[in-house]
Amino acid sequence: MRNYTTQMDAARKGIITPEMETVARKEYRTPEEIRDLVAKGQVAICANRLHGKLDPNGVGSMLRTKINVNLGVSRDCKDYDVEMQKVMAAVNMGADAIMDLSSHGNTQPFRRKLTSECPAMIGTVPVYDSVIHYQRDLATLTAKDFIDVVRLHAEDGVDFVTLHCGITRRTIDQIKKHKRKMNIVSRGGSLVFAWMCMTGEENPFFEYYDEILDICREYDVTISLGDASRPGCLADAGDVCQIEELVRLGELTKRAWEKDVQVMVEGPGHVPLDQIEANMKIQQTVCMGAPFYVLGPLVTDIAPGYDHITSAIGGAVAAASGAAFLCYVTPAEHLALPNLEDVKQGIIASKIAAHAADIAKKIPHARDIDDRMADARRVLDWDRQWECALDPGTARSIRDDRAPEHDDTCSMCGKFCAVRSMNKALNGEYIDIL
Ligand code: SF4
Repeated sequence: MRNYTTQMDAARKGIITPEMETVARKEYRTPEEIRDLVAKGQVAICANRLHGKLDPNGVGSMLRTKINVNLGVSRDCKDYDVEMQKVMAAVNMGADAIMDLSSHGNTQPFRRKLTSECPAMIGTVPVYDSVIHYQRDLATLTAKDFIDVVRLHAEDGVDFVTLHCGITRRTIDQIKKHKRKMNIVSRGGSLVFAWMCMTGEENPFFEYYDEILDICREYDVTISLGDASRPGCLADAGDVCQIEELVRLGELTKRAWEKDVQVMVEGPGHVPLDQIEANMKIQQTVCMGAPFYVLGPLVTDIAPGYDHITSAIGGAVAAASGAAFLCYVTPAEHLALPNLEDVKQGIIASKIAAHAADIAKKIPHARDIDDRMADARRVLDWDRQWECALDPGTARSIRDDRAPEHDDTCSMCGKFCAVRSMNKALNGEYIDIL
């Protein structure tokens, strides 16, 4: 019988939970260090007390950068079995979290399957599910309906929920006056905005925030404070809509911590490369070091089909500058629901970004595998190179497809192989090139 509510409550009571011990082991930290970071809100261990299969992870800028994979069915692609295959493939490829963004059919069995079978952190966006759950149009839903869906997701074992608590009725005027190029591009944010416009009422996730905190405290659900006004194009980055919401997210972070509820804060969006570092510093300051969860940021708007790359460039800079959690972006971003290959490409791109940032941040042992790879490359040991590779299957198949004449080279340079020449030269051997 646990004598604490949330991980943060335990930490503040001086208790080291089994989850903190697991995180400490994975991160090469002491359990006491992790406990103290959780107590301050600088690390979130998203671990719903009902998610029995969870392999816990910590999210914080001083820990290994985590990556999230968005999945879930839509009206146009509604096969839950296919979606479950993507989930397990994503976990095998190293996803730390899965966000179920399903927006069609009966979502509960899939959500429960995730929390009963998947070891990754599970996140949802309850406002999407509200329309689906009640099978009623958005305008007919009440504030209580929305809050009840938050409770339903907490009871289903979800570890973190994205809630767009930071926009208010004031945001409606601001968006109209400010004339952003892309208005609101957050799906959940646009639903909350539309509901406020149609009903004339205040944002229920803002107005009833204390009730939401009580639910999150009861089940230890981490709130991921959604950034409804995140910039959806470079021109909107850092504008008054984004910054005004961020200030409110800082206030909401403080209120959550007062109830021992763990918080992550979501961030942009599309941001020019030279603005990313400043964005991260402002976010960390305003939100008092709460873990920062970014989508991208995408550093250019003109690469549909390649947005896993535009986001990996931004994600690496963001994580090196303090972001703790990267939401993957696939080549299908802005175009379609990702298929299995898109999911794979998105995960690999995010993992490269996260790993590059971890090396730059000097996360303990982050670079060890790179050093092992260099050792394997120096002696042209291909099997050991596959062991170090992020995607060994792809690496091996490229080499096999264009096999060299001599096994101690690759078909890029053949006998002009610099590695081979240097090894032979340093061993005093004759170097045959022709
Ligand atoms: S052949 Fe060229 S590319 Fe291939 S391992 Fe040698 S130096 Fe590297």
